[in-house]
Amino acid sequence: MPEITFLGTGTSNGIPVIGCDCNVCRSTDPRDRRSRTSALVRYDGHAVLIDTATELRAQALANNVRRVDAVLMTHAHADHTGGFDDLRRFNELQGVHIPVYADPGTAAMLRERYAYTFTDLFPFYGGKPDLLLHEIDGPFELFGQEIVPISVLHGRLPITGFRFGDLAYITDAKEIPSSSLDLLRDLDVLVLNGLRVRSHPTHLSFSEAVDVVQAVRPRRAYLVHLSHETSHAEAEQLVSASIEIAWDGLVVSTGGS
Ligand SMILES: [Zn+2]
Ligand SMILES: [Zn+2]
Ligand SMILES: [Zn+2]
Repeated sequence: MPEITFLGTGTSNGIPVIGCDCNVCRSTDPRDRRSRTSALVRYDGHAVLIDTATELRAQALANNVRRVDAVLMTHAHADHTGGFDDLRRFNELQGVHIPVYADPGTAAMLRERYAYTFTDLFPFYGGKPDLLLHEIDGPFELFGQEIVPISVLHGRLPITGFRFGDLAYITDAKEIPSSSLDLLRDLDVLVLNGLRVRSHPTHLSFSEAVDVVQAVRPRRAYLVHLSHETSHAEAEQLVSASIEIAWDGLVVSTGGS
């Protein structure tokens, strides 16, 4: 039964936004402070990080994350990769190379942007992350759990979501092809991005996210990757009772509860 910790739930600027005096950025509701979107999925004693958000170090400290056994990358945009170098602390703690899984396009961008982490793979402890990059092209097994990659469109860019049994995690989608919707049936928990009320060329709006949830009918759904245009409390009112708004630090267990 996977358990997910929402490490970050904000869009690429984070909330508060630098230099913004809007009501959401000045809100005293702790749920309105959102670091860049990322999550940790735990099952069978293993911890699998989804994306290395800009604030990975701060997120790990805030949530007492002391190990990362593997990393799944959804895509290589800066808000989802900016904390990549912080993986080296987990190498140091664990004393092993950490596997990173990404689709071929994302892997190519990671190799380019973080070339120093992928050259001189050995020896260990070179003051950089020690990683093993695996390109994925279909379902694979990770610590005894089948992981199903789910292809979605982030504007025109194909990116990857992941399903772990009855939990699926999709961020930065604008469109979910019908073959991918089919992979999202019979879920307990669906995590999905919902940016704001207004439409956006590369992200689902709240109403578009509601449409996805209604199409695949998970038992529970959580929105991530919110902008500062809507407060947590307002967003809760705007999406139907079938969707909850995630916040930084929220932990959700699947299967039952
Ligand atoms: Zn993003
Ligand atoms: Zn603002
Ligand atoms: Zn993105």
